[in-house]
Amino acid sequence: MSKAAKPVSEGAARRPRRFWINVLFVALILLAALGLWLVRSHKPGLYAHVDFGMGVTEDLPLSEDGDYLYEVGAYVVHLQVKDGAIAFMDSQCPDGVCEDFGWLNEEGQWACCMPAGVFVTIETESA
Ligand SMILES: [Zn+2]
Repeated sequence: MSKAAKPVSEGAARRPRRFWINVLFVALILLAALGLWLVRSHKPGLYAHVDFGMGVTEDLPLSEDGDYLYEVGAYVVHLQVKDGAIAFMDSQCPDGVCEDFGWLNEEGQWACCMPAGVFVTIETESA
């Protein structure tokens, strides 16, 4: 009985499975890279165009988190930017409808506070 009598085919038979694991691994990395690229290339151009009426406007970039407080007439309007989105927070207006708009993070989305007369529209920077 020889010790070297191990079948050679065993190693060869296993190779295909390993190959597919490698392919899957590479695909996952590519997918992650693509996702990261999409997120990175998507965010920087977006900003919130805030219209206070009477021609007073302000543009808030969604790429920077921050809290913005504005005294508009009898109300203090609180806009919060977080994770590439913007929303009305802790509104003092009587109806509170503006908070129900939730978080805006896509071009064309909008929200408004009727009592305070503040309009928020998501726009893309024209490069
Ligand atoms: Zn409101």
